[in-house]
Amino acid sequence: MRVRRCLLVFVVLFYGCFAEHMNEQQLEEIESTRGKLPDILFISIDTMRADLWHFFRDNSLMPRLQDISNMSVNFLNVYAATGFTLPTHMSMFTGLSFYVHGVIYAERGPALLQNIPTIAQILKTHGYRTFGFYHNYFLRPRYGFAKGFDFYMDIGRGLTFAQRINDSISYLLSERSRLGYGDSPLFIFAHYMDLHSDFDKDMVGVENFLPYYSYFPYRKDIKVDRSEFCWKELCASRWLLEVVKKGIKLPKSTVVKMKRLYEAQAVYLDERLGDLFGYLNAEGLLDDMFVIITADHGEEFGEHGSFLHNRPYVENIHVPLLIKFPKNRWAGKVIEIPVGHEDILPTILDYLNITYDFPLKLDGESLIPWIESITPKRDVAILGHKKENLNFRSMIVYPYHLIIKDDGLVELFDLSSDRMEQNNLASDKSFKDLLDNLKKRLDLEISVKLEKRKKLLAVTEPQFLDELDRMEKRAIEALGYK
Ligand SMILES: [Zn+2]
Repeated sequence: MRVRRCLLVFVVLFYGCFAEHMNEQQLEEIESTRGKLPDILFISIDTMRADLWHFFRDNSLMPRLQDISNMSVNFLNVYAATGFTLPTHMSMFTGLSFYVHGVIYAERGPALLQNIPTIAQILKTHGYRTFGFYHNYFLRPRYGFAKGFDFYMDIGRGLTFAQRINDSISYLLSERSRLGYGDSPLFIFAHYMDLHSDFDKDMVGVENFLPYYSYFPYRKDIKVDRSEFCWKELCASRWLLEVVKKGIKLPKSTVVKMKRLYEAQAVYLDERLGDLFGYLNAEGLLDDMFVIITADHGEEFGEHGSFLHNRPYVENIHVPLLIKFPKNRWAGKVIEIPVGHEDILPTILDYLNITYDFPLKLDGESLIPWIESITPKRDVAILGHKKENLNFRSMIVYPYHLIIKDDGLVELFDLSSDRMEQNNLASDKSFKDLLDNLKKRLDLEISVKLEKRKKLLAVTEPQFLDELDRMEKRAIEALGYK
């Protein structure tokens, strides 16, 4: 079933006015919704850089997302702990740093420990029916992502991911009574894969040599040539993976073209998000819905010498976060404190007034006190960055971003004056004391987290993942991982 298009512009104009001219009765009505159990739509847009979004550019590529942001609280400084789908989504689901939940490795690493609850599990114990629609090998049940879901479905490889996710959501909502979910609030996790470098022609049956696919109408002005994106038999993501592994320097024109393809797909995705929210509004569901929109990581286009999503620089770790509360409470508010994925779960539970007996203190915190401006500023964002063969320790103590690589290289950036991290201050003597303090703080923060992990392991036996089979390895390569 196709999602119906609707008058989203009207909705936005209406809510824009609504947010500014609320009277006391309306405010009371909004206040009374807190603690009720609304339908929750949790959207993760794989590989979405924050700078696709309007706050960071003059010509918004995603005007529908901008419309949604007008109904939402907007978080400007959101940093993914790593550039890797698996641990960042697990942080969204558990409220824990990857040092604590420990789900970092695609194979042979530990899966999520039995005694760590997920957002779906917690909401289910409070009466929610829980649904997940995704497509990415790193979100598979083997890692623990399906815990607590009534229905957790891989929508499969192929084109038009966004359309198929939309169709899954609209089918569920339109048929909820017939399916027997009429009396329960719904928690829907929707994972959009469209921006990811992807598509192996052998796996999707579609001839493709583009590193970022982009549907034709959206890329029709971009001249593409097969020879540009292939090396021997390897094309698209597999070619890009070779570029990264071999450190091949690409011509500037090729990099610009890749970025344009990525952005063209963002335009496609934005239109589909517009469709979805149009549908929700037309069905009278949007007003009361609790919506979270974020991304697991960004994407690199050579800003720091690499591609795909490997390194802990802003192009890869700076991601969007919008939270649309029921009745558009706090609509349009802009929050600048540093925020991480692990803050999402506590924020949802806090708004719903759900308390839960966690086995340990979460790393994330509810963001509502900051939205209500009743808490002093916090400065620390996220710690660390780890991939299987590329390890960094990293920390943002706003506005500074400290990165320490395994090979000893240290970098320090001031995000307030150098948003794209081009000026390394680590060797500047005037920053020596600051650098020393940040290093000590980073070591301390990591040791606290590792201690928490140790406590969890003292009472729970980890289950180690099997080796991936040949097809799984192939699929992961096609995503641009080795
Ligand atoms: Zn991802």
